[in-house]
Amino acid sequence: MANTPYPQSYYAASANPVPPRPALQGEVQTDVCIIGAGYTGLSSALFLLENGFKVSVVEAAKVGFGASGRNGGQIVNSYSRDIDVIERTVGAHQAQLLGEMAFEGGRIIRERVAKYNIQCDLKDGGVFAALTSKQMGHLESQKRLWERFGHNQLELMDRQRIREVVACDNYIGGMLDMSGGHIHPLNLALGEAAAVESLGGTIYEQTPAVRIERGANPVVHTPQGKVRAKFIIVAGNAYLGNLVPELAAKSMPCGTQVITTEPLGDELARTLLPQDYCVEDCNYLLDYYRLTSDKRLIFGGGVVYGARDPANIEAIIRPKMLKAFPQLKNVKIDYAWTGNFLLTLSRLPQVGRIGDNIYYSQGCSGHGVTYTHLAGKVLAEAMRGQAERFDAFAGLPHYPFPGGQMLRVPFSALGAWYYSLRDRLGF
Ligand SMILES: Cc1cc2nc3c(=O)[nH]c(=O)nc-3n(C[C@H](O)[C@H](O)[C@H](O)COP(=O)(O)OP(=O)(O)OC[C@H]3O[C@@H](n4cnc5c(N)ncnc54)[C@H](O)[C@@H]3O)c2cc1C
Repeated sequence: MANTPYPQSYYAASANPVPPRPALQGEVQTDVCIIGAGYTGLSSALFLLENGFKVSVVEAAKVGFGASGRNGGQIVNSYSRDIDVIERTVGAHQAQLLGEMAFEGGRIIRERVAKYNIQCDLKDGGVFAALTSKQMGHLESQKRLWERFGHNQLELMDRQRIREVVACDNYIGGMLDMSGGHIHPLNLALGEAAAVESLGGTIYEQTPAVRIERGANPVVHTPQGKVRAKFIIVAGNAYLGNLVPELAAKSMPCGTQVITTEPLGDELARTLLPQDYCVEDCNYLLDYYRLTSDKRLIFGGGVVYGARDPANIEAIIRPKMLKAFPQLKNVKIDYAWTGNFLLTLSRLPQVGRIGDNIYYSQGCSGHGVTYTHLAGKVLAEAMRGQAERFDAFAGLPHYPFPGGQMLRVPFSALGAWYYSLRDRLGF
């Protein structure tokens, strides 16, 4: 059977040691079978195990093989579309519930890291950087909005103040969120996987779910085995393919690219980001960056609709990095990789249940590190019969991409072109 390795990323090169996790051979019986060992699957597994469920996870490749082991590592609060958009889309009660949950994912990550002693270089502090006065105005209203839902760790920054936390002259101001922050994303996933196993859960790597037999007693079929379960959680996100056809129509995998410099040395690193906060700008097609624990700069940006891998990632991302930090023009790039996230038309997560026993959560559209951790808790609550918070997500409306599978890429590329034009012209 194929042995799918990690992409050649900085994260794979600096991953903590892991035990072997053999593929599933034969038949097993469990309470919950989870498809996919990214944050959604692992967070669900942990909450379920902590509540007495028996859990088996089948992972097509390796723990954290997908976006969870490749992302920018930025702990960003709320959702890819903010609570004000949700308030305009759904009723007041549902919006209130979703707003109250918008800052929970970051707390869950910190609790997990502390409880299971996960070594993932957790650092507090994330910056939203404004390039235009319109973006600054948006941050001001975002601060008021988040404060309305109880978030009180935010600071607006003017041009002078933001220059104290990031050595980039392009920003006119920003907002610091001290409950944001950053992590080594793959090591977070690996630590969560170890926690799952410490509680008696089983993770089968190199074990794709190839078919789901639906019904009162669902079965997940894999190339050399099957898992009989009471419940299934589908957590394959952008890597799921067509396993559950009704999910594929309303979402689209998109690629985004990341580069990592050679180690910069303490002094240069400190001049770039003195407090070691992570940064993302406020453009629709945004740039995001941060330092690693060994003082490299990780810089991400760019979106490829339809998730085709671009030929030369460095050629796409390095100019963006030099636009922010011209002082890095002689610095070498050691790693470049791409990863897929899942976009929905509304950019809100797609959550629900098929029949009585197949649950899913996917499509957090770019910002998913915190949401996926919350999703695991909300799915586990629903399986324990407390579905109010699950229903708040499941009630969000989702629509197929216009033109269906054939046209969804050109349509979204057109949308992205429009938004990037808006970013560039500042309107
Ligand atoms: C390059 C990049 C940078 C990002 N940066 C950030 C960031 O800085 N901050 C932020 O908040 N968000 C970021 N995101 C988004 C965030 O990483 C994702 O939203 C989140 O990790 C999704 O987690 P997941 O568990 O739902 O999916 P994934 O992590 O993609 O996991 C899905 C898993 O399911 C497995 N799988 C799929 N199909 C099957 C099957 N049939 N059988 C078995 N297993 C299967 C896959 O192999 C994979 O391991 C980024 C995403 C990318 C790609």
